[in-house]
Amino acid sequence: MKASEQTNYYFRKASKELGMQAQLERVLMSAKREVKVEIVVELDNKEVASFTGFRVQHDSSRGPMKGGLRYHPEVDPDEVNSLASLMTWKTAVVNIPYGGAKGGISCDPGKLSHQELQRITRAFIDEIHDIIGPQLDVPAPDMGTNAQTMAWIVDQFSKYHGWTPAVVTGKPLELGGSEGREAATGQGVYYAIEALMADEGKSITELSFAIQGFGNVGSFVAQFIAAAGGKVVAISDYGGAIINREGIDIPALMAFAKVSGTVVGFPHAEPLQRDMLLSTDCDVLIPAALGGVLTKDNAKDIQARYIIEAANGPTTPEADEYFLKSGKILLPDIFVNAGGVVVSYFEWVQNIQQFRWRLDRVNTELKGIMMDAYREIRSIAKSSHCDFRTAAFQLAISRVASATALRGLETDAFCLIRS
Ligand code: NAD
Repeated sequence: MKASEQTNYYFRKASKELGMQAQLERVLMSAKREVKVEIVVELDNKEVASFTGFRVQHDSSRGPMKGGLRYHPEVDPDEVNSLASLMTWKTAVVNIPYGGAKGGISCDPGKLSHQELQRITRAFIDEIHDIIGPQLDVPAPDMGTNAQTMAWIVDQFSKYHGWTPAVVTGKPLELGGSEGREAATGQGVYYAIEALMADEGKSITELSFAIQGFGNVGSFVAQFIAAAGGKVVAISDYGGAIINREGIDIPALMAFAKVSGTVVGFPHAEPLQRDMLLSTDCDVLIPAALGGVLTKDNAKDIQARYIIEAANGPTTPEADEYFLKSGKILLPDIFVNAGGVVVSYFEWVQNIQQFRWRLDRVNTELKGIMMDAYREIRSIAKSSHCDFRTAAFQLAISRVASATALRGLETDAFCLIRS
């Protein structure tokens, strides 16, 4: 199943529960604007090269559109489209005043020099500067891009429009980035776990965790769980996996992985076959690496009672159905990994206010937003007798439909959602 089909499947399941009409479904599912541009630059060897850049703007009914910009050889328009719509639902679930967008350039950043990447980024902004901006569409880093890319975008955009740090988020601190942005997604995942476990009457200290992926998200989640007294028993990355039933020493693993670049070979744990991590005996499984890893083939092997989707799209619809039937509790990606976009929102607010927040304020506000969203999702799940994912999509769809109706599209179909 393609990425877009997966998003649409979950969307349709929730819209069916809401009793939504087909015409409204179509309006909410389709992208507002899809832009494809040719980026022509001179390479370091003086050859002229051309790359294709995309920006998909999915929905702006609740505010400026928001979403990452990825540089990857296989940036696929279908995937960009699906990720743009996911951003619409994600920003709506956590109730921040944004719509959804996503974009990218079809290039291999590993094969391009620093200067070539800078020229490509600037040339892309030359092509799209009039359709992005603090009140229109606010890009952020994604696969293959980083704070440096965002700094070039601020500089290039500001040549056309004057000093505008709020045009992107995920910037370096020196150019208006926010405290707490790097850890934000992992911090948000941790708050989501805390909210669920408080509800389940469980303490983090009595639970065991397995985490797939030890990159930005996985490593921060592991650190927050360990700092709260939770036992992380297994961790994997691209190279392999490790296990220690007594609990992995996370600060020591961080220091090890910083030097070796992988968790493999960590001396205070046993090696484990990489994909066996998913079926490890533990209470909480946190996929924090790739999409589509929990499938109909391995769903029956998953032992964890709780699945916390830190990655985007880790569960296929078949596995999702299986987990539902077997009584597992799954917190969905559109809520769980929203911490990154929430702190991006704080960065944008700080840029517009020209006022810097301290880290403790960033984390207090983030926790408040994650807790509020959890309570709202849980309340819908209880009243509609549905799972958390369907409840989260219902919450998001209702908010987007309601904003669309209030802005003037007062057809019967939209009013049904508003009431
Ligand atoms: P990252 O590139 O920093 O880390 C990815 C990790 O996954 C690495 O440790 C890598 O070795 C590991 N990995 C890759 N293939 C693997 C495999 N087959 N088995 C086990 N581990 C594997 O990426 P990230 O920023 O941590 O993002 C992880 C996931 O979270 C992605 O799905 C991303 O879309 C999602 N996400 C990230 C953010 C963010 O702010 N970084 C926000 C929202 C969602």
